[in-house]
Amino acid sequence: MKKLGFGLMRLPQTDEKNPKSVNQELLNKMVDYYLEQGFTYFDTAYRYHLGMSEVAIRKALVERYPRESFILADKMPTFLITKTEDYQRIFNEQLEKCGVTYFDYYLLHTLGTKTYANTLQHGGFDFVKKLKEEGKVKHIGFSFHDKAELLDEILAKHPEMEFVQLQINYIDWDNETIASRKCYEVAVKHNKPIIVMEPVKGGSLANVPEEAEKLFKNYHPEMSAASWAVRFTASLDNVFLILSGMSDLEQVVDNTSYMQKANPLNDEEREIIKKATEIINCSIAIPCTACEYCVEDCPKRIPIPKLFSLYNNQKQFRLVNSHMSYYDNLTEHHGKAADCIGCKQCEQHCPQHIAIVEQLKEVSKVFDV
Ligand code: SF4
Ligand code: SF4
Repeated sequence: MKKLGFGLMRLPQTDEKNPKSVNQELLNKMVDYYLEQGFTYFDTAYRYHLGMSEVAIRKALVERYPRESFILADKMPTFLITKTEDYQRIFNEQLEKCGVTYFDYYLLHTLGTKTYANTLQHGGFDFVKKLKEEGKVKHIGFSFHDKAELLDEILAKHPEMEFVQLQINYIDWDNETIASRKCYEVAVKHNKPIIVMEPVKGGSLANVPEEAEKLFKNYHPEMSAASWAVRFTASLDNVFLILSGMSDLEQVVDNTSYMQKANPLNDEEREIIKKATEIINCSIAIPCTACEYCVEDCPKRIPIPKLFSLYNNQKQFRLVNSHMSYYDNLTEHHGKAADCIGCKQCEQHCPQHIAIVEQLKEVSKVFDV
């Protein structure tokens, strides 16, 4: 299988304000082109486009190509499960919406502190195991948005999970909260094949600051900024697939061109990415160094540096929705930004002299909604 997967979460729309209005005609063309280039993997989910992604891919792919000519992945929305029977009901609905009798890859969608506990409580792992035994799915795994320690725990307790889908890109590689590198290392430790999601960070790394863009263009005039981001992930061991959420034909053409032969990055290219990362990180909103001196005395146990890191990331890339699950997981057993009582115990310890109380108010405006 070629390493580029077609993510179906940001499809072209006929009405920008209505996620359900998938532009079917254009999607059909994108699917045709992608398949013509020899790629085969499609990744949908119950919640993408408010339920219309599954329907759209049935029309574009399942109804127009033989079932054995493509690989289809779908995901169980763990965050919507309130009782055990929900699993079967939703799965049946997914088969029907996609017009298939089986999925090649099936994932527990977005496991984190809360959804993992919920999945354990309602028997989600047993359910997907049963689907595999019945031949209704060929491979089982999960997508993950939380701390590396939790990933380690899940993989240790559930060796039946065959693969893991992680958010990995060069800007989140050493990010405190998203912790791409730490999660990647845990998956490698457990010897699990990895599917990468958000290699271009929701499209943001396709539009990097001019200075970073120049670095890329000087080295490869013909290659896009997005191609650098995707190749960064393609160069990692254990990564067997990289998902790109494609929104127009141009992106499909660009992605499939450089992914025909995904040459790993050389040392010079790695150095260029490192410099680009520094340039992008220079524009951060809160200059927190994550030293954690402020955390110990906080009566509300607010994970201050982690919230700042998430906020900085959101400010740079304007990706509130995709960051909400990190925020929810971080504040599940800790204070939220809105819980700050303004006692300023934290500010006394901050070597960067950050106005923590004021900055938490800004964080709260974005995430405590
Ligand atoms: S000011 Fe807010 S963040 Fe700082 S120690 Fe007090 S409650 Fe915690
Ligand atoms: S003390 Fe200041 S720099 Fe250190 S983690 Fe806290 S806010 Fe960030």
